[in-house]
Amino acid sequence: ALDIARDIGQAVVNSRNLAREQRLVGELRQLAAYKSQVLSTVSHELKNPLTAVSGYVEILEGDPGITGSGRRSLGALDRAARRMGRLVDDLLELSEVEDPEAAVPSEVMDVRPMVDGALELLRTAASRRDLDVRVDAPGHPVLACCSPADLERVLTNLVSNAVKYTPRGRAVTVRVVEHPDVVELAVADDGIGISEADQQRLFTEFFRSTNPDAVAQPGTGLGLTISARIVERHGGRIEVESELGEGSTFRVFLPRPDAA
Ligand code: ADP
Repeated sequence: ALDIARDIGQAVVNSRNLAREQRLVGELRQLAAYKSQVLSTVSHELKNPLTAVSGYVEILEGDPGITGSGRRSLGALDRAARRMGRLVDDLLELSEVEDPEAAVPSEVMDVRPMVDGALELLRTAASRRDLDVRVDAPGHPVLACCSPADLERVLTNLVSNAVKYTPRGRAVTVRVVEHPDVVELAVADDGIGISEADQQRLFTEFFRSTNPDAVAQPGTGLGLTISARIVERHGGRIEVESELGEGSTFRVFLPRPDAA
């Protein structure tokens, strides 16, 4: 009888703990939803005045009466407005992918057209830097569970980073590999590489390396955070392997339909 009483007592404690944990999870979810709503509202509010600034800059740029230092100032204003535009776009994207209430559309899809699409978008940037871009993928469809738009966003982020952080004349390779339970998409470069300390913080909002070769490139420090959130919400994961001065490989693993 003592044993039974002890078991019942333990069960009561367990169920109270479970209820407390469930309440905490619910509260965290609400907070995350609130954060993403604030982020989205602020970004939308910033978009309108920014569009006005860019519009006026364009009008003034067409004015032949503006020369010398006036024109230089206009150029600086234009660059600043573009930088802010990229930041606002990235913040909007982050608010979307971090929203726990948002539906996550997922379908069974062949990943290879998404690889081709991302590379097509970045071919001009790569050729400007004289980079050799290679794809290594099976000749048959490679099915994974994701949304085509989401996968294209992730691949575009990873390939554009590989292009940005790789010196002229080197190579960027995208590989598609089938494993028993997952599909691997690897973006490898032989660029500037990432120190071990930086690797720990890569997927944190606004993180940008202080490596002088990296800061020379424009960026918001949000691309990898957005990519990681996207991959995670499709039940996948993202990993990095890198050595400073040698290059980096980013690997995305997505569930295969027969394993999901
Ligand atoms: P952004 O490129 O806009 O700064 P990301 O979130 O995409 O933001 O990347 C964060 C940081 O990680 C970059 O600022 C850069 O320092 C580093 N990084 C990302 N990809 C690479 C890469 N392929 N090679 C070297 N460094 C990289």
